[in-house]
This record gives sequence, C-alpha cells and structure tokens, in this order.
Amino acid sequence: MGTEWMKDPVIQRFREYLKIPSVHPDVDYGDCVIFLKKQASEIGLPVVVHELVPRKPVVIFTWIGLKPQLPSILLNSHMDVVPVYEEYWSHPPFDAVITDDGFLYGRGTQDMKGVGMMHLEAVRRLKNSGARLQRTVHICFVPDEETGGIDGMRKFSESEEFKKLNLGFCLDESMPSENNKILAFNGERTSRQIKITCKAAPAHGALLESNTAGEKLYYIIDKFMKLRAEEKKKLDNGTPLGEVTTINMTQIEGGVQINVLPESLSVSFDIRIAPEYDHAAFENMISTWCREAGDNVSFEYIVKNPEVRSTRIDGSVPFWNVLKTSIETLGVPIKCITCPGATDARYIRRQGIPAIGLSPLISTPQLLHAHDERIHVEVYKQGIDIMEKIVSAVANV
Ligand code: ZN
Repeated sequence: MGTEWMKDPVIQRFREYLKIPSVHPDVDYGDCVIFLKKQASEIGLPVVVHELVPRKPVVIFTWIGLKPQLPSILLNSHMDVVPVYEEYWSHPPFDAVITDDGFLYGRGTQDMKGVGMMHLEAVRRLKNSGARLQRTVHICFVPDEETGGIDGMRKFSESEEFKKLNLGFCLDESMPSENNKILAFNGERTSRQIKITCKAAPAHGALLESNTAGEKLYYIIDKFMKLRAEEKKKLDNGTPLGEVTTINMTQIEGGVQINVLPESLSVSFDIRIAPEYDHAAFENMISTWCREAGDNVSFEYIVKNPEVRSTRIDGSVPFWNVLKTSIETLGVPIKCITCPGATDARYIRRQGIPAIGLSPLISTPQLLHAHDERIHVEVYKQGIDIMEKIVSAVANV
C-alpha cells in the first residue's frame, strides 16, 4: 500500500514519529525524546531537554541566527496525542499506514505531530540549502497539551529557561481546513466556570413564601439563558464559534426533601468569553444579577482564567504581516479567526509574545481527536513547502 510514498525519507521520518504511542493517559515521552534527539543530530542542531516536571520533557532545538541579539522565533508543537477507540479505525492508529490513494492514517497526523514534523522538515531544508536566517529559530516540543498544558507549556512559559529564549514571535497549531484556505488562529476565548448559590430560610412546601431560594435561582438562570440566546443568534447568523461567548448550564444542586423549601440551591455555568467582550463588564453584570436576584445570592469561580489579549492582525505585528504575505505569494489564501477551543498558544500570549496558530493543511477533513485521523501525503509535503516559506519570512523580519 502506498509503496512509492513509503520510500520517501521525508515520509519515513513522519511515520517513525507517528508510530510512537505518546498517547494519554500517563504518556511515556521517552521514545519521543530519543527520536527528536536523532533528528537534531541529523540536521546538525543543538538540542536541550528541560524537565521542569519529572517525566515531562520539553525538547528544544536551536538554530542560531545571524543576529542572535534580535528576539527569536519559536515553532511550537506538542508530542502527546489523545486516546483512540481502535476498533473504529480502518487501520491501526499507531502503524502509520499509507493507503493506495495516499492517505497516511495515524493518531497525531493532524493534532499535531504533523505540524511538529513540518517545523523540523522546513528548518532541515533551509539549513541544507545553506540559507542563513537573521533571527534565531527555536523548535520546541512540549508534553501534555491535551490535558491542559499544566506541566507542559504553562510551566515552561513561566520559567527562566523560557525567558532566556528571548522570543519575539511564536507559531503553534490551528486546524486543517476543508477548503483551499489555510486556517490560522490569533486568539482564544477565556474560560470561566462559575457557581452561583442562592440561600433562603427553609419553610414548608405547602406555603407560598416570598424570597425563596427557588425564585432567586430562577432569576439567575433566566438572565444567563437570555444572554445565551443572544449569543446563539450570533452563531446562527454565521459568527465563528471562537468569536461567540458560550454559556452552558452544567450543574444544579440543592434541596433536602420535596416538601421542604431549600436552604440552598446552586447552579453552575461553563462560560467561554469571546475576546471582543469586555471581561470586566461581564463580571460586573454577573454581580449585578446576583444583587437583583435577592439577598444571600453569591457567586464563586471554579475556574477563572486570566483574560489574554489576541495577537493583533491589524498590521501592527510585522511578523503576522510577512507571514500572511509569504503564504499568499504561494497562491494560498489564509483566514485568521479566534480558536474555538484552547491551545498552548494562550500561555505564550500570556507572556506578552505574539502567537499565531497555524496548521498548513488544506483540503483535509477535520479529524482532530476523531477516528481515522489522517492526512494526505501530498498535503503534508505541501505543508512543509508552506512552512519553509513562513519560517524564512518571519526569521528575517
Ligand atoms: Zn493539538
């Protein structure tokens, strides 16, 4: 199957990486590190491994630029992949099978071992061609993105080792696009999970008391659901999901017995605030609703992520300008939106570094975390061409 492609060393290297089952839960990154060190010695680049948390290596290749004092470029990818339901796959998810029609099957082809290998292949090619870039380029491989990056990019981005990289710009992941446009991400929504508790004096269920926990809870739920409906309307009218604030009621708790008015009722919401939303105003609005609902209504955050500013694509970030131009000169259009989910790029943006998510995979069904995750070999190779142009453009800004 796919024999011609199998002989291609570029594809062989990718397949070798895909065959390492760096899959959750409890990932063993040992073989990824061995594989990456071998790549580094082949390409001729120094590599360091930071283990800020035991068994959670961060692997960094460095290609020194002609002007190493300039802020550098980071090409970031994660080594981990999400679990599989093997029985639903047409080919085993860690065998890296190529079919006769050129599809390479494997967990991580899209998310995101493919992009990590494109980073490496692009730099390998540039280096072999004798090119020298102005800025230093770091290629970084991190653990645990799929479980929130707590022991991976979050910890690393807050470390001295990270500061020493002196970064000016970062590339991370996006998603394949099913049409001919490359999809890029310049920001993410802010995750806020809140619990609102309404208290009242208990009473008999046969009465019609005022100021009950039930009435207060009803007021709160009504406010959130009305806001949800407004946001839903935006989504239905074509606003991308990443630019809509999502609100979902996820838990209701309280009460002791069906004929006793409860002393306490609470409701929890999972909220993802769109970047354009005024985060402080959002918080004030919730406080106001709690006050309006009556006395003894309070709210607490279960998760309160900080607001992170999106990377600007209005022309004020030169790295973005040259990136866009470099792709467009290849005749490939690019569309930049807010990421509907979360990636490690948020930790990098938190440090004030502009970051763009970019997986240069076009005409590809979106199969991140899905059965039969795959990419076409020619799409992968085209991705390397695109990445080569991008790396050379941003490292020469
Ligand atoms: Zn990913």
